[in-house]
Amino acid sequence: MPKPVIKIDCPCGSGALYQDCCEPYHLSTGAPNAEKLMRSRYSAYALGLEDYLLNTWHPNTRPKHLNLANDRTKWLGLEVIRFEPNDDQAIVEFIASYKDNGKAERLHETSQFRRIAGRWYYVDGEFQD
Ligand SMILES: [Zn+2]
Repeated sequence: MPKPVIKIDCPCGSGALYQDCCEPYHLSTGAPNAEKLMRSRYSAYALGLEDYLLNTWHPNTRPKHLNLANDRTKWLGLEVIRFEPNDDQAIVEFIASYKDNGKAERLHETSQFRRIAGRWYYVDGEFQD
């Protein structure tokens, strides 16, 4: 019997179904560009996919582990406002909406991405006002 397909809207807020949006990246080793990687990492936070987040983190800045199981943040959506690819580097600026303890918050960050051997990695980010 084929396994049942659960159709959910992708947590990244693209408007597409998860299976047509970020899931293929979650099931492989990453995304074809930094903007898609950013979206898939956001979805991974929303879904608690710690391994995916660590695997797409640049080795120089990658934390030892995340503690998503104890994280009560409710991720509400992602808006990418700038995407500047430049060879093996890229900048993605985004606003992530979430709820923390029932309070709506916005995270505005400019993130750096780098491509190593054909794979994109998140390097680090800077918060914006
Ligand atoms: Zn998505």
